[in-house]
Amino acid sequence: MAAPHAPACPCGRNDARGRPLPLAQCCGPLHGGEPAPSAERLMRSRYSAFVLGDVHYLRATWHASTRPPELSLEPGARWLGLEVRRHHMTGAQTAEVEFVARCRVAGRAVRQHERSRFVQEDGRWFYVDGDALSCGAAP
Ligand SMILES: [Zn+2]
Repeated sequence: MAAPHAPACPCGRNDARGRPLPLAQCCGPLHGGEPAPSAERLMRSRYSAFVLGDVHYLRATWHASTRPPELSLEPGARWLGLEVRRHHMTGAQTAEVEFVARCRVAGRAVRQHERSRFVQEDGRWFYVDGDALSCGAAP
């Protein structure tokens, strides 16, 4: 059982009783190297990694074919929340996740409604492409 003060996971996932899951029981283990059980969980853990500034994890879960050579996070961005709208398999080992992410940068609220594609290889999910989260990028 989590300590009462355990910080809630940035991705906003709730447990079966509708209470926010702590980071250590949600995206934390994935950031530590555990494979994500689904594309949705990988999507959530990548959002959390953005919030926590975990560039290493973002690169590690980016498919080699589309991974940018360099990855830097927007300085001063404040992530406000993630809402996964839809998650469905598009093939035996491919999936698509539709989500809305909100953030604030330089005092301006930004809302991203995107679709991302994922592929599973050797039991691990990778982000392939679609729409990368980029808080602060002009729409
Ligand atoms: Zn999480």
